[in-house]
Amino acid sequence: MTRVIASSQPVQEGVPVADYRVNLLGLTEQKLTDFFLGIGEKKFRAIQVMKWIHHHGVDDFSQMSNLSKALREKLQQIATITAPEVLSVNTSADGTRKWLIRLEGGSCIETVFIPGKGRGTLCVSSQIGCSLDCSFCATGKQGFNRDLEVHEIVGQLWLAARSFDSLDPCKKRVITNVVMMGMGEPLLNFDNVVDAVNLMMADNAYGLSKRRVTLSTSGLIPEIDKLGDRTDVSLAVSLHAPNDELRNTLVPINRRYPINDLLAAVNRYLQKLPDTHRRATIEYTLIDGVNDSLDHAKQLAEVLRVVPCKINLIPFNPFPGTGYKKVKPAQAKKFQEYLINAGYITTQRTTRGDDIDAACGQLAGAVNDKTSRSRRFSAHQATYIDEPIQIQ
Ligand code: SAH
Ligand code: SF4
Repeated sequence: MTRVIASSQPVQEGVPVADYRVNLLGLTEQKLTDFFLGIGEKKFRAIQVMKWIHHHGVDDFSQMSNLSKALREKLQQIATITAPEVLSVNTSADGTRKWLIRLEGGSCIETVFIPGKGRGTLCVSSQIGCSLDCSFCATGKQGFNRDLEVHEIVGQLWLAARSFDSLDPCKKRVITNVVMMGMGEPLLNFDNVVDAVNLMMADNAYGLSKRRVTLSTSGLIPEIDKLGDRTDVSLAVSLHAPNDELRNTLVPINRRYPINDLLAAVNRYLQKLPDTHRRATIEYTLIDGVNDSLDHAKQLAEVLRVVPCKINLIPFNPFPGTGYKKVKPAQAKKFQEYLINAGYITTQRTTRGDDIDAACGQLAGAVNDKTSRSRRFSAHQATYIDEPIQIQ
């Protein structure tokens, strides 16, 4: 049985006591079934409870009217349905909404909803901080704090969908897509992320299609190879450079997993998927004078020939202390046009929610910042920790 610390509450003056009830919010159908079998109940209880949680947004066992009173009371003793705590919610003039969420231990993450034409995308985090230290990424500059638990990852969707009254699959959905493009490297929190995305796609939970849940990775080959055995989520790869020499400087993990090997792993992943038409998304953050020339675009078009993909160009989002600058709009347009003419579906991410400092992949917020790397970074850049820290 999975044991999850759900919350801490003071029961005696000044003495916090951990709550060791099982948090059912983060359990997949299989784990919830094991939980009910483990307490001597029938396995169909798992589906009933999943639907209460994920279709109806219920977090109180006493409201689960198709369970016996005795079972409801038993669940209250041994289990809980606890999402992380929302500290604040901001909605931008363009409809972008940002939740500042406090996790167990006091650290904060952000979750952002970005409305679009006929769709609504939720950008969720998988870790507090990140250990991979990409040179253009503020999360990387903070260093790594900890992995998120499954209920903390799924909880971001649950909280957001509940606030839009968008959980019920029979109603028109407000959140139609989820991207794992918030803080952290999802594949370094492999088991929890796999459970979370599978829950997001499970019919008895949020029920999103596999095309609408996207996991973004900086390119960890062994984990990409394992991923296809556990899920069929859509894959996005953060390339950001068309050759190893440049990518080594932007995405240091490239020294271990160079571009051609990475693209071969992406192909292996795509080949494991049942749907032969699937393709990967290649993310490319455009940084002024670093990776945005037409020669880079030409190299990119060449190197990507080996993998079925579409390209998503992201204008670099500057943050205090970075030496990089945002691509010039005219240059971004030329870069995009080159790739389109070379035969690639190429989109450019527009910045949304400017008035609340929110853009998917480029979130802003105060995050606990205690690593030696962030201290080194802030020693060079005094403004860095004084201002809200940009997280991607
Ligand atoms: N760790 C994963 C997912 C989180 S990052 C990854 O690297 O893919 C989500 C996306 O935001 C990535 O493509 C990342 O490269 C991009 N990103 C990070 N910092 C950025 C910044 N300052 N401006 C623009 N994009 C950024
Ligand atoms: Fe980590 Fe992704 Fe940021 Fe790189 S871009 S430091 S992998 S979160």
